[in-house]
Amino acid sequence: MARTIERIVWHTAAHGRDGQAFDTTAAQIDQWHRERGWSEIGYNRVIRFDGTLEKGRDPRKVPAGVAGINETTYHICFAGHGDIAPLTPQQLESGVQHTLEMLQKYKLTEKFLNEPDGLIVMGHREVNELVRRGLAPTPTHKTCPGKYIDMDAVRLLIRGRLTAAPPTAYPYDSQAAGELYAGLKQVYAAAAKLQFPEEAMRSLNQFRKQPEVDAAIARWRRENS
Ligand SMILES: [Zn+2]
Repeated sequence: MARTIERIVWHTAAHGRDGQAFDTTAAQIDQWHRERGWSEIGYNRVIRFDGTLEKGRDPRKVPAGVAGINETTYHICFAGHGDIAPLTPQQLESGVQHTLEMLQKYKLTEKFLNEPDGLIVMGHREVNELVRRGLAPTPTHKTCPGKYIDMDAVRLLIRGRLTAAPPTAYPYDSQAAGELYAGLKQVYAAAAKLQFPEEAMRSLNQFRKQPEVDAAIARWRRENS
């Protein structure tokens, strides 16, 4: 029977030494986890420093990421060490993209948007908050995914991607568009008489090239020629 995923969890490989984080591979983690007696790597995906996604445990199988809630969670592990260094920009972007895809895949997008405090996307350490709410049995002492990873900022970033405003439609008014067109021509003519230098005209040129201005004037000319 297919398991039901309720949360996407972020981890760090906690792999580094002397202030340097290492670019951990899924193969390395797989080896470490097997040595602990696990069947295979516990995470579902590993994200390398360059943003490359590496496959971990098949998400249809129960992962081994956070004790007590593995049955209902999906696990992304970032190469490196979140207590030594932040994610690379490529890792962050890749992690956000993959999380967005998994929210979609597991039909969690609405829930994520409707429950800002729901920890639908969470860091491993935040299992302690789930324990406090009676939603998970086992707390952790880990800082995972590390002190350099601010999960509130991550959630805001993901929310921003989901709610990016589509281009707003503006009301078209034929008379106003005509006035805009005539007014612009008047300003250009006056500026030429005053012999303003090119630099002074640059922001007016920029205004003329804005998509809304361009569209309004194009439509007016189409309808009035
Ligand atoms: Zn972890």
